[in-house]
Amino acid sequence: MIVVFKKSADEAQIKRALSLAVSRGASVDLTVGKEGAQARISDLCGDFDARSLVRDPAVEGVYGEPETEFRSRISRGEKVVVRAGGASIGDGFCVIAGPCAVESEEGLFRIARAVKAAGADVLRGGAFKPRTSPYSFRGLGEEGLKMLVSAGREFGLPVVSEITDPRQIDLFHETDIIQIGARNAQNYELLREVGRSGRPVLLKRGYAMTVGEWLSAAEYVLAEGNENVILCERGIRAAGESARFTLDLAAVAELKTGVRLPVIVDPSHAGGKADIVAPLCLAAAAVGADGIMVEVHDAPETALSDGAQAILPETLAEVSARARKVREASS
Ligand code: PEP
Ligand code: MN
Repeated sequence: MIVVFKKSADEAQIKRALSLAVSRGASVDLTVGKEGAQARISDLCGDFDARSLVRDPAVEGVYGEPETEFRSRISRGEKVVVRAGGASIGDGFCVIAGPCAVESEEGLFRIARAVKAAGADVLRGGAFKPRTSPYSFRGLGEEGLKMLVSAGREFGLPVVSEITDPRQIDLFHETDIIQIGARNAQNYELLREVGRSGRPVLLKRGYAMTVGEWLSAAEYVLAEGNENVILCERGIRAAGESARFTLDLAAVAELKTGVRLPVIVDPSHAGGKADIVAPLCLAAAAVGADGIMVEVHDAPETALSDGAQAILPETLAEVSARARKVREASS
């Protein structure tokens, strides 16, 4: 955060204003110029909130996003490649595919076989489904998760599934990647729990989150010593009406310029209808995404959730091959 002092502020007033920050261990970098004084205060210190300095009579204003420091922590250092059960995310173009929800063992095995043949690297399938209406199908829970793990083993695919409650963590011990959904992207206790597990985490962006807030959520996982975080853009609420959500590909392009975590795109929840999923996959590859997560069903008209946006396995085969070419051509 940058604290700008009033031109009229004298040395004693500036010192007094900054004394609390210093005594509480925040790092303070003061610059005094012709136009007045300003101080850069690191916000990685939990005992001091630089924004409160706006109340000091010597202060003109406090600027910058509080998460600036988090961003630099996520940007600096080695590029992160998340390795999960044989798949590498952040090294090449990764295709994650499968049904919205695990609906039955037989159906899941059929779809898993088909997505494997279509070139998928990771199998997805929700067992704990956070649904907008409490009367919608909410997943098969623990049984569904077991089915997903056995389908993954059968076809040699690592699996990803969504956790919705910290108390479920032990059930996920065989799930290669733990997904945090859009609705829980700011559930900080859940983020800490998956952070402590040390397991690969796929973190969706919440519908109304800024990029800074999303990175701060990722920081919760990193702060527990777990760097295995994959960011997943899935569309935000904006003025667009043509799709279910507005896919923020500018955010993906921006993150790819400075963030060391892998960034993937979920075109299915953003698009909301099957016929716009393929072009969004190609667009994701063109802006440099490290992969896509796509909902696939072999009988979408019978799907218990999100059938409208599920593409067929043969479409996945075509689009993943094309997206890989686009990614190569644009990198
Ligand atoms: C999902 O991927 O199954 C899902 C529910 O997505 P989101 O959290 O992005 O809505
Ligand atoms: Mn879905």
